[in-house]
Amino acid sequence: MVEVESFIYRQLESSPLFYTNFSNMRQSALRTVQFDGFSYTLQMNPARIQSATADISKKPDTSRCFLCRANLIQGQIPYEYNDDFFIAVNPFPIGENHLTIISQRHQDQGIMNIVDKFVTMADDMPGYVVFYNGPKCGASAPFHLHLQACKAVSLPVFAQIETLKRLYAVDCAEFSDTNVYKIDDTTRRFIVVQTMNRSQLQYHIEKLLREINMIYQTAEPEVNVGILFDDGYYTATIFPRDKHRPEEFFRTGADRIVCSPGYADLAGMIPVSVRENFYSITDNDIRSIMRQVCISSENFDALHISL
Ligand SMILES: [Zn+2]
Repeated sequence: MVEVESFIYRQLESSPLFYTNFSNMRQSALRTVQFDGFSYTLQMNPARIQSATADISKKPDTSRCFLCRANLIQGQIPYEYNDDFFIAVNPFPIGENHLTIISQRHQDQGIMNIVDKFVTMADDMPGYVVFYNGPKCGASAPFHLHLQACKAVSLPVFAQIETLKRLYAVDCAEFSDTNVYKIDDTTRRFIVVQTMNRSQLQYHIEKLLREINMIYQTAEPEVNVGILFDDGYYTATIFPRDKHRPEEFFRTGADRIVCSPGYADLAGMIPVSVRENFYSITDNDIRSIMRQVCISSENFDALHISL
């Protein structure tokens, strides 16, 4: 079990930077954009500008990698989790108790070989969503393997999943003790796996990732995956991706929307770093952005959940 609350307390207590950034995030302005049966929350968060505009084409060596232990920011406390990962409080949080779960080794972002460890992290942090951003879909440091976690209450999709299943499930596969759903809610296309069985969860996630690799002809899938373990029950959400950034990101002038959607955005919490965007983004903008970055209709049709 990870003692998250006391770890966060220790970090905020000992560092004015972390204390200030957490306070700012908790007081940030929020705006709800309503769709039929679900919603997204916009969060005014200027501190996220570096992450939203990160140039991920340059690969830094370990001396400049901000996730390597030797380069943690001053005052940042590592939590010794296990032989593979340590945990640090995220200095630029977007959710309650936002953590970064960092590989002890400097190695590329990749999910195929760590699904069992990923599920164990969810086991060790009940009530938290542990999430992964693929190297070209939201991870601002794709050169150093890491996951993140925050309280489930910060990610709207989890409170909306039963409604989304009822209104927008386009396919459902029921196995002995596991249900898998394909959901197309007119903004996002994604897969939900629900079960009480840990090994079945791992099996189905790995199977889906292999399917996504087949469709996209990749060895490492571009996906955003989040797992919540709560009250003995797992809910995993898997968002296969077509694009890293939507065309709105590359516009100039007042039409530009600065966003690089990662897991949190797809889970309904969109941090907005530019004030004008925060006030002007409409439901149509969100639909356009999500439609571009999520899996296409053709590829979603080709993704079989009942094999
Ligand atoms: Zn590194």
